[in-house]
Amino acid sequence: MAKVFCIANQKGGVGKTTTAVNLAAGLAVHGQRVLLVDLDPQGNATMGSGIDKRSIASSVYQVLIGDVDIAGARARAPRGGYDVLGANRELAGAEVELVDLPQREARLRDALRVVETEYDFVLIDCPPSLSLLTLNGLCSAHGVVIPMQCEYFALEGLTDLVNTIKRVHANLNPALKIIGLLRVMFDPRITLQQQVSEQLESHFGDKVFRTVIPRNVRLAEAPSYGTPGVVYDRTSRGATAYVEFGAEMVERVKTL
Ligand code: ADP
Ligand code: MG
Repeated sequence: MAKVFCIANQKGGVGKTTTAVNLAAGLAVHGQRVLLVDLDPQGNATMGSGIDKRSIASSVYQVLIGDVDIAGARARAPRGGYDVLGANRELAGAEVELVDLPQREARLRDALRVVETEYDFVLIDCPPSLSLLTLNGLCSAHGVVIPMQCEYFALEGLTDLVNTIKRVHANLNPALKIIGLLRVMFDPRITLQQQVSEQLESHFGDKVFRTVIPRNVRLAEAPSYGTPGVVYDRTSRGATAYVEFGAEMVERVKTL
């Protein structure tokens, strides 16, 4: 039975999509069966997985409004070793349309039931907001992975996200928990980043993942080739870190 994780942080540009795509590929390296759900109308996880968002016949949008099921909408990432439920701009309209549908926060959760035995992991790349789309992600998930940069204001946005997670836990999804904080784009030469990283460890303890993702240009280049960084340059420091993070996640789910 698949374990479902949201990659969430309402800030943009913090490394959610890079984490979703490379964790999917990293888990595949460890032989895990993975479905990556792109829940962001920007469709970056779709494109970064090598699937042209403009040419997909069905996307997560059709799944949410109930036109198709996931089995009829997913595609295989050509080089990633995982499946993708893609997204494109159409998804931006879902926000409005979902409001009038029954079970509007639980549409993705219910859709995932059909494929839950086919995967070990479902990863959901959330948009940079605490919208109805993100709520659908959180309602579906066993846990949330929060990528964050070790910057001065990193903790500020975290309060809103943590409160949203608490509310979803209380009202909609009692299974939901924060699996961990993932330090991304880390540059150990910057003293401030080291300090914030240490603060995170002392404040959140084992909620902070052991693996640290370095700032690595290969990870940033990979999407323009439609390839996860993990596959684009398997020996790069960024790729190595995400494969290691995959192993840490496999280990973590055993404790859930
Ligand atoms: P989000 O999905 O949170 O908006 P992205 O994953 O798209 O964030 O990352 C924002 C930008 O930072 C992208 O250009 C991406 O390529 C780059 N990036 C993300 N992680 C790294 C990293 N570890 N090293 C270098 N660049 C990164
Ligand atoms: Mg993104």
